[in-house]
Amino acid sequence: MKIEKNELKKQIEKYVKISFGKDITEANEFEIYRALGQAIIEEISEDWFETKKLYSQKKQAFYLSAEFLMGRALGNNLINLGLLNEVKEVLAEYGIDYNKVEDEEEDSALGNGGLGRLAACFLDSLATLNLPGQGYGIRYRNGIFNQTFKDGYQVEKPETWLKYGDVWSIERPADEVIVSFGDEDVRAVPYDMPIIGYGTKNINTLRLWEAHSIVDLDLGKFNQQDYLHATQEKTRAEDISRVLYPNDSTDEGKKLRLKQQYFFVSASLQDILRKFKKIHGRDFDKFAEFTAIQLNDTHPVIAIPELMRLLLDVEGVSWEKAWGIVEKTFSYTNHTILAEALEKWWVGLYEQVVPRVYQITQGINDQLKGFLAEKFPNDPARQGRMAVIQGNMIHMAWLAIYGSHTINGVAALHTEILKKKELKDWYEIYPEKFQNKTNGITQRRWLLQSNPQLAKLITELLGDGWITDLSQLKRLEEYIDDEGILRRILEIKHDKKIELVNYLRETQGIEINPNSIFDMQIKRLHEYKRQLLNIFHVIGLYHKLKLNPSMEFNPVTYIYGAKAAPGYLMAKGIIRLINEVAQVVNRDPDVNGKLKIVFVENYRVSVAEKLFPAADISEQISTAGKEASGTGNMKFMLNGALTIGTLDGANVEIVEEAGIENNYIFGLKVNEIEEMRTKGYDPHVPYNNVQGLKRIVDSLIDGTFNDLGTGIYGNIHRSLMENAPWQQADQYFVLEDFEAYRKAQKTINKEYRDRIGWAKKQLMNIANAGKFSSDRTIKEYADEIWHIEPAKL
Ligand SMILES: *Cc1c(COP(=O)(O)O)cnc(C)c1O
Repeated sequence: MKIEKNELKKQIEKYVKISFGKDITEANEFEIYRALGQAIIEEISEDWFETKKLYSQKKQAFYLSAEFLMGRALGNNLINLGLLNEVKEVLAEYGIDYNKVEDEEEDSALGNGGLGRLAACFLDSLATLNLPGQGYGIRYRNGIFNQTFKDGYQVEKPETWLKYGDVWSIERPADEVIVSFGDEDVRAVPYDMPIIGYGTKNINTLRLWEAHSIVDLDLGKFNQQDYLHATQEKTRAEDISRVLYPNDSTDEGKKLRLKQQYFFVSASLQDILRKFKKIHGRDFDKFAEFTAIQLNDTHPVIAIPELMRLLLDVEGVSWEKAWGIVEKTFSYTNHTILAEALEKWWVGLYEQVVPRVYQITQGINDQLKGFLAEKFPNDPARQGRMAVIQGNMIHMAWLAIYGSHTINGVAALHTEILKKKELKDWYEIYPEKFQNKTNGITQRRWLLQSNPQLAKLITELLGDGWITDLSQLKRLEEYIDDEGILRRILEIKHDKKIELVNYLRETQGIEINPNSIFDMQIKRLHEYKRQLLNIFHVIGLYHKLKLNPSMEFNPVTYIYGAKAAPGYLMAKGIIRLINEVAQVVNRDPDVNGKLKIVFVENYRVSVAEKLFPAADISEQISTAGKEASGTGNMKFMLNGALTIGTLDGANVEIVEEAGIENNYIFGLKVNEIEEMRTKGYDPHVPYNNVQGLKRIVDSLIDGTFNDLGTGIYGNIHRSLMENAPWQQADQYFVLEDFEAYRKAQKTINKEYRDRIGWAKKQLMNIANAGKFSSDRTIKEYADEIWHIEPAKL
């Protein structure tokens, strides 16, 4: 079935001619990239069609997500099709460098961070496992903003991945549907992206909806030469899918956001119902037998009343029957326990945007209240706090739990916290609804594609079975005393570090020492993730190195990558602080060659692929209990970086698998943090008693660092040292955990020098990363939540 080299050549030539009117010898790298994409789409189109046909007969799982952080598709598609080498050879014959062609692709960055990337990894696993599953989301015209720095401050620039269209998305106008809001109707136009599984013919689908107006141009206004208003309606409709909200784990409660959610949810449900009816007619008793719908966080939870509406108003099903279908169809993933993330909608806004859905939501709320009144007749407080509608707010998480058959957390610790604390009320009533599904990552992108050197070594030792069964890595433990293999692991890490050194020189003009320890914290900027703890330690280290120039010390490069939500001033202040510390430290000849700080601009999936393989140290230092799972921690582990981290999220399971002795665990545990909170935590205690800490904290306000009069450092200082009506001083325990963190860093610096000892730890991490494949996660969802079965073409 695989395409021949000559055929491939012809196809590229054909599409360069069709699309650009050129000969391949005249084409530039962008044009080659596009032609390659078109050739791949043609190559897979038959299998894609057949896969859809096959799946339509089976029970299918639909993954509804407001975010899909896909990154680039070309390399991944070529690897999964087994065509990468052929393509490289063909291009080489024309003197074209494949890597430059690959670099022409803009990331598809329709997500903020972990939640969106998880959705992307899940699609890869669904296709590879031949599972009838499909993603549904929004085709944002502008994805997550591009980040630049000016005077060390983050500046946001619009992201424009669709400037020249997207070669991987196929418009399907025949499947257009109308979505009705209280005040307008809009067209939802689907674009399908093929999701190419590894080593299988199955091609799954990600369907993204774009909003368009019913009327393109108001001819009346146009004829009156009122050109601005003639296109007003068109613009208003298109605004719905215009831009991704750049908040990670915060709820903004904005009208356009609610419109986005309802838009893609209603379009997706109409699409699912239409396809169902095509096969099964109006036999809705069978709906849940053939349909599972996963709600990725609360963003698509409006699907619960919307499916009710479609069944009641459009299909004429009774309330009782419709509710039965809903309960059997939906399941909900909780991604966070941060209070600021829990979505609530103001009743007035919700009613205005979706009046009929509001009535149905009221009906669901009445039904729930009736049930609670019967169950807890003597506990009105509990009845009140479990209601979906409380006062003038609608609680989407409660709606999700009530309307779903299964609720899952994303790591063992997180699920336990949900059951015992955040969702305790619900767990007591519905213990059988709660499950854990520890997150995972796809080894195809995060090892095979991004670290071909390590992938090659593993395949040499174990064969290539790990590519679709990551648990096979366990057999690497046989090499724990094989010095030859351990040295190769070190060499590969060094090669990846050199590649990163070259990349950072070219893109940011920074020179770093590949023999230094590469210590990385790359993730969204959030106070709970504690980039501040990290940079505080670096400031302390700088003070110490200045004081003791002859101190025994292995050079370290601290590498950061992070975007801050544009309205999150504290996060932006921390970015500025890191950049300023970098400027001071990197310019100081006293620490030259010992300490270096790099903030990688515009952190995104394609850059992540270069960073993870080059890391020696993975920073996973969130306040215990705050990081639901994390997935960056898994990408590092798989690439042989050792974790410095708290017992939070999936870190717990990572050290369970790889051994606590092969990582660097420090800091307060969940229960200890709780105890401190009850007893009353005063950050002045560590501030006054931990050696060197006072000077570090004071440097925020004593003129050492200069925030250019913005007051941003003063705010950071206050948040650490002063109680406020809305938050406790140092609510993330940065100062309390500082000493333990510094001690762990010191141990790392010492142990890094024992290269063979270090390589053994690397090997233990790689060998035990099998659990963290998204193939394992998806198989659990398929077996235990969706009850779907593979269907192989
Ligand atoms: C994996 C990934 C994340 C998630 O990182 P965490 O450390 O789990 O928060 C965020 N952004 C990108 C680009 C990623 O690849």
